[in-house]
Amino acid sequence: MRELTDKLYETRNIEKSEFLYMLENRTEESDKYLFEKARKVSTSIFGNKVYIRGLIEFTNYCRNNCYYCGIRCDNMNAQRYRLEHDDILNCCDLGYKLGFRTFVLQGGEDLYYDDEKICNIVRDIKKRYNDCAVTLSIGEKSFETYLKYYQAGADRYLLRHETAEKSHYSLLHPKQMSLESRMECLYNLKKIGFQTGCGFMVGSPYQTNESIAEDIMFIKDFKPHMVGIGPFISHKDTPFNNFENGNINVTLFLLSVIRLLLPNVLLPATTALGTLDSNGREKGVLAGANVLMPNLSPVNVRKKYSLYDNKICTGEEAAECNICLRKRMKNIGYEIVEERGDYNEKA
Ligand code: SAH
Repeated sequence: MRELTDKLYETRNIEKSEFLYMLENRTEESDKYLFEKARKVSTSIFGNKVYIRGLIEFTNYCRNNCYYCGIRCDNMNAQRYRLEHDDILNCCDLGYKLGFRTFVLQGGEDLYYDDEKICNIVRDIKKRYNDCAVTLSIGEKSFETYLKYYQAGADRYLLRHETAEKSHYSLLHPKQMSLESRMECLYNLKKIGFQTGCGFMVGSPYQTNESIAEDIMFIKDFKPHMVGIGPFISHKDTPFNNFENGNINVTLFLLSVIRLLLPNVLLPATTALGTLDSNGREKGVLAGANVLMPNLSPVNVRKKYSLYDNKICTGEEAAECNICLRKRMKNIGYEIVEERGDYNEKA
């Protein structure tokens, strides 16, 4: 086990069989050793800096019906909302004052926001805050649409692949959605020049060790600039309401493996991790994560952007969350910085 961790650390590479061995034979002790190695790598590149991204959840309307997601179109209990252009800019104004230099616009696939609307929002944010990065996370679009977003000034795009195994993908999504089109989107985004993020849920229904190994092999080959992983958390109004939540320790294990495979990758300790464990985000950073994505959405809509049950930080103002997170990071020896935190190949 130790040999495999050392090999991964030294070669920044792992074979599928080796990964499966590590996953299946984890112990508390082996995890501890792995986290230390991953932390050594992240510290050597980022020091004790943690980047923050202001998350603006601007719509929970969605045309898709993913079985795991609380804002799926069939969920009649979801109270739908949209933020307009100026509401979104107001979130950025507040975020900028709080020290954010990246804004992430995330939402369901809501066709109300046509290309022109999204491009105008992106352009206006970049005009007002030319020292900030804009990340989009609004699902699958055509090559042409992604290109328009990029030309409007968007810097980054997050699109989790959700699972790299075709059979598993079809158990998580209705038949209108396919792994092929998800993957095509990811390759298009990278080709256009976006800093591109993929990722998956840990412990999603029907996930096997084999599918996790496929995820890791995909990440190794695709070499994304960002990887978003967090535990699956069931939502009461979805077909997966009776499934168990994902495992925190497996999530931390995977964060470390990803850090060792892709030393420069931008790797968030996600809100889902913080939801299942009150110290989840700290543990994530100590396992090699270097990004946090606090919520900048107006408090009156936060509870409505409910992808999963019991999401944290839905009651506090952004300013309070900001103070809380700064303290939490300081407690473990890390510091939140006012930087864009772009991907740096050479770091
Ligand atoms: N519509 C956008 C944004 C999706 S929400 C898109 O398609 O990319 C962002 C991520 O939240 C999803 O990619 C998914 O991995 C995660 N998510 C959704 N439901 C979840 C759940 N029940 N538990 C944990 N994560 C979930």
